[in-house]
Amino acid sequence: MIDAIGFDADDTLWHNETIFEENHRRFCALLSRWHDAATVESKLLETEMRNLALFGYGIKGFALSSIETAIELTEGRISGEELREILAMAKRMLEHPVELLPGARATVEALAGDFTLLLITKGDLRDQERKIQRSGLAGHFAHHEIVSEKNTRTYARILARHGLDASRFLMVGNSLRSDILPVLELGGHAVHVPYPLTWEHERAEPPPAETDRFHALERLDQLPALVWRLSPPRR
Ligand SMILES: [Mg+2]
Repeated sequence: MIDAIGFDADDTLWHNETIFEENHRRFCALLSRWHDAATVESKLLETEMRNLALFGYGIKGFALSSIETAIELTEGRISGEELREILAMAKRMLEHPVELLPGARATVEALAGDFTLLLITKGDLRDQERKIQRSGLAGHFAHHEIVSEKNTRTYARILARHGLDASRFLMVGNSLRSDILPVLELGGHAVHVPYPLTWEHERAEPPPAETDRFHALERLDQLPALVWRLSPPRR
């Protein structure tokens, strides 16, 4: 039986990683007279990982890490004009329209009447709030949870706050590391719906096969059928 369903947002309900990828390409092009794209990419990832505990997830941290990477890779020769271009890239990302993934709206609408829906996302508070509002889906979720990290501690806290039982909670998301593994560890159900692109940091091994609380779907619109199989409709 399922009472509540948690939805990840970025790359589960709407496109996100494609926007980052596009800007990675722009960033590599900007630094192409100093280094090849592979060098720029690996240095940027290294800088982002080093800064994660300080800056957290999201576009602002990405922008600061990009600037730091550019300064390091050019040994300080990057121009003010080029740094301005990096800032402009970040601002455009923050203003990017929210593009829902296929089936996102219909899936959320189909489940909202029978289950308590939670939106659980990590990243910049302001940016996540903006995307939730612009998605047009905000009203279907009983709770919006914007957290700095999605681990067993954060999920346990969210479930406790809303009086939810982990064994009757199901989380759906594209990241094995952030959406699936911690929820399974708490005894909940988790549904992995992969996105074509995965940020290096979010990669993880799939959970061991022994649990029947882990499910993998190809598309989000397959979710209602799965949920109703686990938890037959109450009406
Ligand atoms: Mg995601």
